[in-house]
Amino acid sequence: MSGKNYSRREFVKQNSLAGFGAAVAMGLGPVSLANSVTRTDIPAILGGQKIRTKLWPVWPMWNPATDEEQLLKVLRSGVWSRAGVVTEFEKKWAETIGSQRCLAVVNGTNALITAMVQLGIGGGDEVLVPPYTFIASVIAILQTGAMPVFVDTDPETFQIDHDKIEARLTPRTKAIMPVHILGLPADMIKIMAIARKHNLLVVEDACQAWLAEIDHKKVGTFGNAGCFSFQNSKNIPIGEGGAIVSDDGPFIDRCYSYHNYGNPYGTLIGDVSSGTVMAGTKLRMTEYQAAIGLAQLKRLEEQTTKRNDNAAYLRSQIKKIPGILPYKFNEKVTRAAFHLFPFRYKKEEFKGLTRERFLNALSAEGIPCSSGYTPLNKMSYLENVLKTKNFKLIYPPEMLDYKKYMERNQCPLNDQLCEEAVWFEQNMLLAGKSDMDDIASAIERIHLNADKIKSQK
Ligand SMILES: *Cc1c(COP(=O)(O)O)cnc(C)c1O
Repeated sequence: MSGKNYSRREFVKQNSLAGFGAAVAMGLGPVSLANSVTRTDIPAILGGQKIRTKLWPVWPMWNPATDEEQLLKVLRSGVWSRAGVVTEFEKKWAETIGSQRCLAVVNGTNALITAMVQLGIGGGDEVLVPPYTFIASVIAILQTGAMPVFVDTDPETFQIDHDKIEARLTPRTKAIMPVHILGLPADMIKIMAIARKHNLLVVEDACQAWLAEIDHKKVGTFGNAGCFSFQNSKNIPIGEGGAIVSDDGPFIDRCYSYHNYGNPYGTLIGDVSSGTVMAGTKLRMTEYQAAIGLAQLKRLEEQTTKRNDNAAYLRSQIKKIPGILPYKFNEKVTRAAFHLFPFRYKKEEFKGLTRERFLNALSAEGIPCSSGYTPLNKMSYLENVLKTKNFKLIYPPEMLDYKKYMERNQCPLNDQLCEEAVWFEQNMLLAGKSDMDDIASAIERIHLNADKIKSQK
C-alpha cells in the first residue's frame, strides 16, 4: 500500500467523513492500475506491476458529524457508568436481532461465560464445540469448569458438521455451542432438533454473525442464548463490548445479576443495600461504549447488504478458477454476516504452489489475505488445563489423560481445512464491484503463472 499521497491520518479522516458505502476509500489512493495491468502480465511477486495499488476501506469507520456528538454527549453528562445509554443499546440490539431481551456486557468472551454459567453449565459437564473457531469460544467453556468436546468441521461450509454431533455425545454432555464462524450460519434447524432429542442446552456463539439469518430468522435467536462481540475488528466495532440475547426473561435477569456483583436484577448502580443473591462478577458495559455502539448500529444494515452482495459476486467470479473452492451456505441460509470471506485453496490445481507462496503472491498483487485458524483441538492450553487444581478436583483421572483426550477429540477434516483455508477480511467487501474484480484477476494471474512462481527461488 502506498502512503505517499495520503498520510494515514488524513486517509482515516476522509474515510470517516465519507462515512460508509461505495464512496469509502474509493479513489482516495493513487490511481488504480486495474485497467492497464491485466491478469496475463507478469505477477507482482516476480517483478511485474501490481494488479492493484488502490487502498481498501479502513476499519473501523465512523462518522464525525454524528458519532462524535453522540460520544461527547455522554462525556458531558458526567454519567459514564452503566445507565440509560446502555439500556437503549440493549433495547435496540434485542429489537434488531428479534429477541425479547438483551444484556450488554464488556466483551463477547464474557457474554459466553455469563450465558453458560447462568444456564447451569459448569464443572463435570461436557460442551460440544467446533475446533474451527476463535480461541474465545473454547476458553469460555473452560472458564465455567466444563470440558470442551470437539466436533469436526464441514470443510464446505466451514461450520460445525451437525451430522457428527451425535457421535460425540456422552452421559456428561450438557450443551452444544454452535459457532457461526466467519459470519456464516451453522445449521441451527438441525442442531436444535438434535438438542431437543437429547435434552441439551444450546448457547450460540454469534460473535462474528450480526444479522446473519436462517430462513429469515436471525442467528443467536435459535438457542437458549445467543452471544455477540463488538470488539474493534468486528462488524459492529466499539473497541470492546458484548451482548447476550434470549427470550427467557428470568435467565437474562440472572445474567444481569451475575454481571453486577450478584446483586438482584433491578438494583441501581451505586446501591449497596440491595442484598446480594449470587456469587456474581463485574462485567458492566460503559455509557461510552453504548454510545459508539448505537452510532455503529445505524450503518450495520446497509453494510451487511453490501458485504452479502459483494461476497456473492466475488464467489461467482473466483469459483471458476480451478483449485479455488469458495464457502457454501448451509441449507436455508438467507443472509450471512461475512466477518470474513473464506475459500479453500487446492495447491494440486496450482502446480503444487504452497498456500504460503500463494498468499505471498496474492499480497504482492495488493490483495490482503490470510490463512486463518490453526486447529484449536491440539494446542498446549488443553494439556495445561487438564493439570489444573480445579480440573483435578472435578474430573476422574481417565478424563484428564491428555493423550486420551487428544484421541477422543480428533477432527481430521478440520486439520485439512486449516491447511487449505484462505480468508479476506470484511472491510474488503465494503469496496466496489470492480474491486472484487481485482481480487479475481489477481488469483487468475497467480493460477496462470503458478509454475513460474513455484520455480522462483
Ligand atoms: C471475537 C470472538 C469472540 C470473543 O469476543 P471478544 O469480544 O473478543 O471477547 C468469541 N467467539 C468468536 C467466534 C469471536 O470471533
